[in-house]
This record gives sequence, C-alpha cells and structure tokens, in this order.
Amino acid sequence: MQKGKIDVKTENIFPIIKKFLYSDHEIFLRELISNAVDATQKLKTLASLGEYKGELGDLTIHVSLDKKKKTLTISDRGIGMTADEIKKYINQIAFSSAEDFLEKYKDKVDAIIGHFGLGFYSSFMVAEKVEIYTRSYQQNSQPVKWSCDGSPRYIIDEAGKEDVGTDVVLYLADDSTEFLEENRIYELLRKYCKFLPVPIAFGKEKEWKEGKEIETDKLRIINNTEPAWTKKPADLKHEDYENFYQELYPVNEKPLFHIHLNVDYPFTLTGILYFPKLKNNFEIQKNKIQLYANQVFVTDSVEGVVPEFLTLLHGVIDSPDIPLNVSRSYLQSDANVKKISSHITKKVSDRLNEIFNKDRGEFEKKWDDLKIFIEYGMISDEKFYEKAQNFALLKNTDNKYFTFEEYRKLIKDNQTDKNKNLVYLYSTDTEKQYSFIENARSKGYDVLVMDGQLDIHFINHLETQLKDSRFVRVDSDVTDKLILKDESAESKLTAEQQNDLATMFRSVLPEKPVFTVSFENMSDMDNPVTITQSEFMRRMKDMSAMGGGMGFYGDLPDSFNLVVNSNHPLVAKLAEEKNKTAGKELDKLKEKIQPVKSAKEELEKANSGKKDEEINQDEKERLSDLENKLNDLEEKRNDVLRKAAQKNKLVRQLIDLALLSNNMLKGEDLSKFVKRSIDLM
Ligand code: ADP
Repeated sequence: MQKGKIDVKTENIFPIIKKFLYSDHEIFLRELISNAVDATQKLKTLASLGEYKGELGDLTIHVSLDKKKKTLTISDRGIGMTADEIKKYINQIAFSSAEDFLEKYKDKVDAIIGHFGLGFYSSFMVAEKVEIYTRSYQQNSQPVKWSCDGSPRYIIDEAGKEDVGTDVVLYLADDSTEFLEENRIYELLRKYCKFLPVPIAFGKEKEWKEGKEIETDKLRIINNTEPAWTKKPADLKHEDYENFYQELYPVNEKPLFHIHLNVDYPFTLTGILYFPKLKNNFEIQKNKIQLYANQVFVTDSVEGVVPEFLTLLHGVIDSPDIPLNVSRSYLQSDANVKKISSHITKKVSDRLNEIFNKDRGEFEKKWDDLKIFIEYGMISDEKFYEKAQNFALLKNTDNKYFTFEEYRKLIKDNQTDKNKNLVYLYSTDTEKQYSFIENARSKGYDVLVMDGQLDIHFINHLETQLKDSRFVRVDSDVTDKLILKDESAESKLTAEQQNDLATMFRSVLPEKPVFTVSFENMSDMDNPVTITQSEFMRRMKDMSAMGGGMGFYGDLPDSFNLVVNSNHPLVAKLAEEKNKTAGKELDKLKEKIQPVKSAKEELEKANSGKKDEEINQDEKERLSDLENKLNDLEEKRNDVLRKAAQKNKLVRQLIDLALLSNNMLKGEDLSKFVKRSIDLM
C-alpha cells in the first residue's frame, strides 16, 4: 500500500469548490459518465488500431446504487488506468485543473454560470469518500485501488479486478443523499446522458403486470446511442426526423420543417433544428433548443449561441467548439460562437428559400404557422431580412399569398396616392372589419390580413424598409380617404347645415368612447355614416398595450371618428327633417345671433393689432358682454338642435348602424336598435 499527498497548495480546496458549485451539484454525474464514455471510446479506438488485442465484449456502462452502503457506482469497461496513470491523471491533472479553476474564478464567483469541465473532481461535491477500482487494458497490468476522503491525502493499493475498465465508487455525503434515490438518478441520466454514444444501464426494465409495476430481468438502457443528428442526412428519411422530434418533445405536435446542420470547418457543429408548430404564446416556447458537446447534454439555454429570433426553434445543437466554462457575456463575444450564430442564421434562411423554391404550395400551406418566426427574424436581424425578402409572404383577404415584389406589382396601379406613396391596406380582424374590407374591395383595392402576434411590429418595420410605402388599416378612414387621390367631390350640404347636423349627431352619440364628428364629401353610393379610428392613435395604443414604451397613449381613452357622408340621400333627408321640425325656431335664433355677431366682429376689428393695455376698459366690458350673449344664443340654438335630434329616429338609427358594423353596438342599445328598426319599417 502506498500513501501520498496530492500536490496542491490550497489545503482546503474541497470545501471551497463545494460551496462554489452549490447550485449545480448534479453535474458530477455527467462528468463521471463522460469520463467513462471517453475511456470506452478510447478502448474501441485502440482495438480498431490493433493495439488492444483482447475481446471488447459488452461495453455497456453500469450505474448502480447501494442504499445501505450509501454508494453510487459507475462502472465502465474502458481503457482503465495503471497506478502510474492514476498518479498522473487523477492526482496531478484532475486536481491541478481544479486548482486552476479556483485560481481563475476566485474573484468572480458570480460570473460562473453552471457549466465547466471540472471533471472527476466534481465527485467531491457530493461524496465524502471516493474509491477508484481500475485495471488498465495493457497486458498483465495490475489492478489498482485508489481512495481519497476529500482531503488532499490519498491511498493507492493493489486490488483484485478481473475485467479491464474502471469502477468509480462514491460514498455519498450526508447532505447529498438525494443521489441515492433511484428516481433522481434516473432523471439526471435522462437529462444529461440521453444521447451518449455508449449504452448506459441503470437498474432493470420495468413492466406492468396485473396492475403492478414489476422489474424484468432486462437491463434498462437509458440512452439512444445513435441520435438522428449524428447520422448523415442522406441516411435519414422524413419520418426519422419526425420520430426524433417526438423523442425530444413527446407531447408536441409534429414540426413544420427541419434543418439538419452539419459543419466541420472552421468549427465543428452538428444538429437538427425544427420549426415547431407554435401555440398562442411564443414567449413560453423559447429556449427549447438543447446544446450538446459530443452528445453530452450541456444546457437548454442557447441564448448567445443562436440569434435571438431562432431561440423559438426547437431541436439540438452539438458542438465541442462552444466554450462551456465561461459566462454568457463572454460567450457572446467569442469569435467562434459568433461564427456559429451567423452560420445557423444562414442555414435557416437557405433552407427556407429552398423549400419556397421547390414547393411553393407546401410553403404557403405552412406559412400561417411559419410567419411568426420569419417576421421575428426580419424585425430583429438585418441579414435575415435581406434573405427573407425573397420568400416572406403577404396574405390577402382572399387567402392568396404574395411575395413582397409580387404584391407591390399587384397594387401599384390602383393603390398609389397623390404623393406617389404606395398604400398597403390591411385588416387585423376580417370579421370585425368586414364592411370596410368590402368597401375597399368594391373600389378595386386589395386588403392584406395582418392578424398575427407580431404584425403590428412587422408593419412598422416594413414601413422603414419598403420605399415610399405606407400601411393603412382598412377601417382607419372612410374608403375614399384611405388612399388620397386628386379627385375631390363637392358637398351638397352648406357649412351651416354641417354644423347643425354635427351638433345633432354629437348629442346622440354615447359618451364613451370619445367620438369626433366630421363630414366628408363622398359618393351617394357610400355609407351615410362610418366609424373609423385613426391609424396613428390606434397604433400608439396598440404599441403601448404591448409594452412598447408608449405609456402616455395607453392612458388615453379610446377615440373614434364618426364620419358623415354629406352627399348621402339619407343625410340630405335628415337636414330636411331638421328644417321641418326646428327650422322656424332656428331661424328666429339666427336672426338674433346675426346682429350680435356683427357687433362683436366690428369691435374686434377696431381693436385688432392693439395690445391688451391699449384697449379701454369700456370696450373690454362691451366685448365680453357680446361674447356672453353670443354663447347664450348659440347654446339655445344647440338646445333646439339637441331636442330635434332626440325626437328624430333617423339620427340614432344612422349612428347605430355605423356602430353595429363595427361590432360596437351591444346590450340595451342593441335591443333598442332592433325595436326602432321595426318601428321604422
Ligand atoms: P478530463 O476528463 O477533463 O480530462 P477529469 O478530471 O475528468 O478531466 O479526468 C482526468 C483524467 O483521468 C482523464 O483525462 C482520464 O485520463 C482519466 N480518467 C478519468 N476517469 C477515467 C475512467 N473512467 N477511465 C479511464 N481514465 C479515466
């Protein structure tokens, strides 16, 4: 037997390491199994080179628990170690790398995020004693036992071990007994070792028999040693990709597309990415890509390794070239990682382009599900925008799909306004905005469907990218004014008639939301009254609702425009009815208003250009008298109009019809409307 002291300067290195790694104790299992896999692969290589002449046999790695002894054992049939190798690899290398690690990170504990290759050493995070029983593949090698209780002192002794390979036995510490639970170990093996290239057995296969779960004689292998991404694309069928997706995400729907990544220069990267079929909330679907290094699971947080918009994808990336023992901020500045990220972006856009060119019909079928990824990418990644312009689609209300270029050509002639801007009309809800869509289409306009989660942002972005183009929601103005051209019709109403009618409409409109009444000279074929919401206000409110930092707009009440068509026969009729019921009274008041108004205007004219202190007190008082009188009279006139409006069923009916076609007429108002409609018939 031989005793020794591991050559480290820091005597109390163990407790410090233990504390450092507190949150991530579980990775010891990954590290030890990785070592076992490495040792096994090495033996296979030696055998294939003819340097190992023995029988390879079954190379399965065994993980076992002994609750009584409080041990966890990992046994491999790999190359094993001689006593000298143990001294070199375990006593010196493993320990010194731990010391290096401490040295490197002692000032920045916070910067350590989980993953680093601390290797064998990490077993001391959970064990109070570790034993290694090992026998080297070399001929006539003497099996060795190494034992260490966590202090820098170790013991090496001869051991009796027949098979080549290594058993690592952990005597679990009292604060780590969770690792004696079968379920916990199973869960960890599935998390980190699911795709390791050497079979790993843990316990026995279970089976349901007569309502009970019983153990069979068969070893339970926890891993798939040949996951799809390690194979050549040529050897895989479409189903293989779908099956692998199922293996990764058992409960998800089938994916839309897959992308097989396979690079070996200037970095090594393999993997399969999937465009998943997303449910409503895409935020929670982020970070589903799993990152592996040589089939060992590392993390499912790929932030920094793939561009932000691709964190919505699912799948696996495997690269030994992604540095794992560094902080996130370092990761993002790493040159290799940057290359990987832009490579993935390019691959994704190439693949989409390929599918689009090969099978546009298929691409269109999937577009509605796909568009969220592509829009997100186009908004957040300039390079991706460039590429995606070729295959990104716009859908219109006929469910036809167009590329940007195709669509521009389609609407160019009819939807260019007098300022030479191309106006893209869109709808966010084809049901609610139905009548606006119909009106626009009757003018020969085309209307896009923009009802996706990102469409508001996407529209804003497109306006910055597409030259001389504007997006206008189809209900943001009356059809005639959506795309301003030079033709302007005349009004059949005088300014006074318009004012009077405006007062009448205002008096009947609901208090909330806030309405502004205006008149437009449209054709008598257009609707008499339309409700619109200004494109600008609505966008600001939408953005603020999505947390776009537009708080002020979010606080404003909803405001709408009631647009009256001055040339519609029903509006003319309303003006007539007003004259019939209130004309006399209004005229009388007008006669009284006229002299007051002229007197006031005369006085104002005489004093125009003077400063306040140059006007004498008498005149000031007279002016304010006249103003009050005028207000009184006008208020009286408005009262007359309001009373006329209350009595007139047509005003209310016109407003309700407009509200109705905007889905804004509800409850009591709706049933009153129905009753009134019957009365009017
Ligand atoms: P790393 O694996 O990163 O080199 P470790 O501390 O995990 O660092 O292991 C140090 C060395 O010990 C390994 O490089 C290997 O040579 C040897 N080793 C560890 N575990 C085994 C094993 N199960 N079989 C054979 N050699 C091993």
